[in-house]
Amino acid sequence: MNPAITTAYGTLLLLAFAGIAAACIATADWVAERCGSLKIPNADRWLIATSVNAGLLLVGTIFFGGWAMLAVTLLLAIEFFLFARVHDRLVPAKDRALTKHNVNEVFKGLPSRLKRFSSMIRRKFQKGDDAGLTPSAGAAAGLADRFKELGGAFGGGAKKNAATAAAAAAAALGHAITPVKIDLRKKDGRPAFETNGDDAMSSNVLAARKMLVDAMEREATDIHFEPNEKQYTVRLRVDGVLQTDLTVPVDAGKGIISALKVISDMDIAERRRPQDGTFSAIYNEGKYDMRAACTPTSYGEKMVIRVLKSSGGMLKTGLSNIGIRNSILTQLREVIHKPYGMFLVTGPTGSGKTTTVYASLSEIDAAQHNITTIEDPVEYRLDGITQISVNTAAGVTFASILRSVLRQDPDVLLVGEIRDKETAEIACQAALTGHFVFSTLHANDTVATITRMLDLGLDATLIQTAVTAVLGQRLARKLCTQCRQPVEPPPEFLQRLGAKPGVIKHIYREKGCEACGNTGFKGRVGLHELLVMNDEIRGLIVEQPSIQDLRAAARRNKTRSLQTDGMLKVVEGITSISEVVRVTTA
Ligand SMILES: [Zn+2]
Repeated sequence: MNPAITTAYGTLLLLAFAGIAAACIATADWVAERCGSLKIPNADRWLIATSVNAGLLLVGTIFFGGWAMLAVTLLLAIEFFLFARVHDRLVPAKDRALTKHNVNEVFKGLPSRLKRFSSMIRRKFQKGDDAGLTPSAGAAAGLADRFKELGGAFGGGAKKNAATAAAAAAAALGHAITPVKIDLRKKDGRPAFETNGDDAMSSNVLAARKMLVDAMEREATDIHFEPNEKQYTVRLRVDGVLQTDLTVPVDAGKGIISALKVISDMDIAERRRPQDGTFSAIYNEGKYDMRAACTPTSYGEKMVIRVLKSSGGMLKTGLSNIGIRNSILTQLREVIHKPYGMFLVTGPTGSGKTTTVYASLSEIDAAQHNITTIEDPVEYRLDGITQISVNTAAGVTFASILRSVLRQDPDVLLVGEIRDKETAEIACQAALTGHFVFSTLHANDTVATITRMLDLGLDATLIQTAVTAVLGQRLARKLCTQCRQPVEPPPEFLQRLGAKPGVIKHIYREKGCEACGNTGFKGRVGLHELLVMNDEIRGLIVEQPSIQDLRAAARRNKTRSLQTDGMLKVVEGITSISEVVRVTTA
């Protein structure tokens, strides 16, 4: 044969091979994506079929040339049509396969699909070499692996915590994500993105939405999205404990950060300074307020989002539903219905202080009392109550608002947090002049609250006369009732409680099952210690007491410690010893 023709034929074959291979990869990638997002049954079969085809194309063309290529292309087409038939039954008309929109969708992302594919091959090459495989075998193994991974991760779509790298990467890239029903709004109430516009459908935005939905589904209170050398990690704070949700590649992570910055009205171009922003979300009929904070780190920007559910259930139900035992509850209700005085809730960050203060406040009849709150910032909107936000940057502080509010004849005041001497002083004076003041303070327990106020430089006589009661609080995770395991109580535990052997037959220990995401816990319960001021403690305060003196006095006053309240909740099967130890010794 004429050598020129042979060369031309060879070149043509090579070009065709490249074209078909690219189409094959793009299509396979798209199929994987759709299988995941639509939960198409037997996803792995489609994927294996496509990967076998890719292999056939490679081997066939090398040995049999153009005819093999033609045959494989035909086979591919048949497979694709079969898939399309299943697919089209599951999607709205505009998303059907082989429409103009669909062809665009498959091929628009071709460069990024190929890039992803080649980097995957490269990684597998290195692995393949290690295992003594030839490069092509490595590549083929890589291809098969990729489909297996995708098939596994997506086939078992119901599996929670699917933290496999493949699922994560895919999720991050906006794969396998149908636009979820979540309504994102900027702080001024405008939609964050034009409905179904290009922006709204971009993979970064879809991935950001998916991340937010995950957090809401799992009732997380915070989302941490942070980079390290190799990847971005999504961690969710559920029941007070951070849990890794998934990881995404750095590039995708940066894209998601940008999307989140747009939603929360931050400056996208600013990457060196920390920024704050807010937005809101409506999901499953729940309304959420989101507080985003973006900070630069050595590996890139980190985003932390606080998830606040509006009109939280606890506020409506009052004090009786937050796990306070009846003996404490009776005392507490007596305290908060006094005409004047001060009630402090104390504990570390994230111990549920705010919830308890609001729950207490909700027991006071707003129609008959003038109630004003000063908060940083206002977290829950309450009916019939005046709520004012602190704005430290603008010089609007707890102290300055408190001063002006006191001129408006309030009966009941809520001061979000006492942090400084000035605020503490005005709040105490208000409590002494016919107002009832609710507030929180960051301290370890009830007696530490008193020493903390003394440390702020507050006059001991002021504390002595103003403070009515202090409630110390922690949040412990509740044992999952589906999987908790009965165990014999250890002797030192019984001794601590002063229980006779044999009275408490068993307590429970955490195990972990599907219902609780393998943590062994579900939901949280408060541990409480209530210190009501009596003459002995009041007398002690002015004598520069040590924390031990105060503690002894509190014990004589029958204040049950946080640990003891926790141990009782262990006996009741609500939580475990390790959990009580964890939250009370932190
Ligand atoms: Zn469980």
